[in-house]
Amino acid sequence: MRDPARPDLATLLAAAYDGPGGSITPPIVQTSLFAFDSYQDFVDRMAGETSQPVYSRVQNPTVAAFEALMAGAEAGEAAVGFASGMAAISSTVLALVRPGDRIACVEHVYPDAYRLFERLLRPFGIEITYHPASTFERDADLLKGVKLAYLESPSSLVFKPLNLPMVAEHARRHGALTVIDNSWATPVFQRPLTLGIDVVLHSASKYISGHSDTVAGVVVASTELIGRIRDLTLPLLGAKLAPFEAFLLTRGLRTLEVRMQRHQATANHFIERLAALPRVTAIHSPGPNVVPGLTGRAGLMSVEFDDRVDIPRFVDRLKHFRIGVSWGGFESLVLPAQATLSQQGEQNSAQRFGVSPRLVRFSLGLESPADLWADLEAALSESAA
Ligand SMILES: *Cc1c(COP(=O)(O)O)cnc(C)c1O
Repeated sequence: MRDPARPDLATLLAAAYDGPGGSITPPIVQTSLFAFDSYQDFVDRMAGETSQPVYSRVQNPTVAAFEALMAGAEAGEAAVGFASGMAAISSTVLALVRPGDRIACVEHVYPDAYRLFERLLRPFGIEITYHPASTFERDADLLKGVKLAYLESPSSLVFKPLNLPMVAEHARRHGALTVIDNSWATPVFQRPLTLGIDVVLHSASKYISGHSDTVAGVVVASTELIGRIRDLTLPLLGAKLAPFEAFLLTRGLRTLEVRMQRHQATANHFIERLAALPRVTAIHSPGPNVVPGLTGRAGLMSVEFDDRVDIPRFVDRLKHFRIGVSWGGFESLVLPAQATLSQQGEQNSAQRFGVSPRLVRFSLGLESPADLWADLEAALSESAA
């Protein structure tokens, strides 16, 4: 017997919104403030006796509709939306750490999260140490004295997966909080809160939106932890999610499950064929069950080519893959690591943790898998010695 109170994720994401006049999508409540009917209503709200929204920096019904859907999708108690994935990351970390605290971060973390830690948090007296995924798993005492473990599974660019139940267990023993960036897997392929992780966050600009038409972020956790973020960093840093963006994200979530299945089918189509290409030296694309709780393969992967491949020429020959940052949309994208490695200025995370200049990242979109593969093969044959 199926329990109607515990629907599958696809059912949950496709559940019609119960809007005014029977509308099935949330209205875009494009307002800065919410007026009160009487002096007494206002006083009651200020005293916390009622919950009517006051000001859209902290509360907005369109944003709340997205947050509720996201909390359900990640199996969390509460969620809070942000103006970007980086706003979600910075507002989460700043709500949970104080000067003198230590963050243990996984290597190959998203480059701007690395910059946040190195350029902003370290000067404020927060210590950050970086460790390979294998150390997080094997060293049961790594998190001793650590306030917060900052995780990505899989990590950026090289897609190293992490055994989340194991890391959550180590963290629990030492009283460390665990935060994971789940943008790659999405709740369709991995639900970290069900694996013992404390906080899940997303760059909603990627798969959650799925349409490359907005920049946004979201955090899901217990009511207590989301309460801390709502109390401190949401109002005081003020990087709130806007109503229109929240509307787009709710729309994106409706199709998340089917989009992820298509991304996975295309990724599998590529994995089978890439392995047979002699010029491919490495494929970075974790699949189902390589770690407990990971149930699928997303469409973002990277491939290393041997030095007979002229990478700039290869990238230029691709017809269905646009050259660009970001990922997770309907369109296929290609990003050569070489370009990141040659970036000027302070040492970036790819330089620090080591990424091969022969690595090329692909975001496989929703086009026909056969067309995308034919494009890759043709571009490769035109650019390889
Ligand atoms: C893009 C990205 C971010 C940052 O999100 P924005 O919405 O661009 O601020 C964070 N984490 C990962 C893994 C990303 O790919």
